[in-house]
Amino acid sequence: MSTEQTPCLYCQTSNDAAQQNCSNCGMPLAKSHPQDRNRGLRFFKKAFWFIVIFCVLMMFYLPR
Ligand SMILES: [Zn+2]
Repeated sequence: MSTEQTPCLYCQTSNDAAQQNCSNCGMPLAKSHPQDRNRGLRFFKKAFWFIVIFCVLMMFYLPR
């Protein structure tokens, strides 16, 4: 059910996100959305593990 619309960079026509090329001008559509999402997820995972390790270290390091 992904009816995501990707605007064409060249003619601003909104195309289906699954399409490779613009339906109006035929230029390849930029897939910036999935890339950004993956990059964000990778950064989130790194930050998550950093926080987990930091918390574990603090649990042992800090006196109770
Ligand atoms: Zn276009």
